[in-house]
Amino acid sequence: SPQPLLGRSALITGASSGIGAATAELLAARGARVALLARRKDRLDELTGRITAAGGTALAVPVDVTDGSALGAAVSQVAEVFGGVDLVVANAGIMLPAPIEEQRADQWQTQIDLNVTAAVHTVGAVTPLLVAAAAGGRTADLFTTSSIAAQNIFPTFAVYSATKAFITHLSRHLRAELGGKDVRVSAIEPGIVGTELQSHVTDQGARDWLAGAAASVEFLTPQDVAEVIAFAAALPRRVNLQQVTIMPTRQA
Ligand code: NDP
Repeated sequence: SPQPLLGRSALITGASSGIGAATAELLAARGARVALLARRKDRLDELTGRITAAGGTALAVPVDVTDGSALGAAVSQVAEVFGGVDLVVANAGIMLPAPIEEQRADQWQTQIDLNVTAAVHTVGAVTPLLVAAAAGGRTADLFTTSSIAAQNIFPTFAVYSATKAFITHLSRHLRAELGGKDVRVSAIEPGIVGTELQSHVTDQGARDWLAGAAASVEFLTPQDVAEVIAFAAALPRRVNLQQVTIMPTRQA
């Protein structure tokens, strides 16, 4: 079927740019209704317009996911409008590498607040909806956007990489916990993807390293990652891609 995700109700965090935006657009093209969560309302409205114009269904929900009660309200709103949620992409994240000796406590905290705390709160808020969807006989998916940084070692990326190791390990545990309830859990671990992620990096050494990588490696596109998520979501209910590493061909 050209629309294998017809009837699915998806919620995507970090949907205003990069991997989240591309995933929302592709899931919608494959038939899912998509709820778009992020802070930048203008971006969400623009994406909603594009999805709607292409014949899809999208709901823009501007929210700061680090605000636990606002996140809870946003998830409830989506569940009410869509009559449930059966596909979640917990994707919002930020990468702020810097030498540990520089004591960038503000940047450590920003990464932990978003990549770890908000991700756990997202998972907590959506899990009852996913369990209910699966109990009702629907396919239910929880995708997390981890990173190869969860597995590989990159000097100056220690805190970011640790947040992603947390996400991969969290996901493996949740898969074991929720699989018995027919909820699939998948950790997506991309190598470098060309998105706005790199634009937030302030550390000059890391900026130089990324520029060097850009000169020798054709980065993945956000659509490349979206294809993997859409593929996994369309697999038969008994099949769970637990962990997917997706690399630019030229990235070592
Ligand atoms: P982007 O910067 O393009 O996307 C990040 C998204 O997160 C944006 O939509 C942003 O929206 C959202 N976001 C940030 N802060 C908040 C917040 N407080 N509340 C709600 N939403 C927020 O980067 P990517 O698409 O690359 O990143 C997506 C995920 O992929 C991240 O978890 C990242 O770690 C991971 N990843 C990225 C790789 C890469 O090379 N690009 C490689 C491996 C993993 P807004 O600012 O509007 O709130």
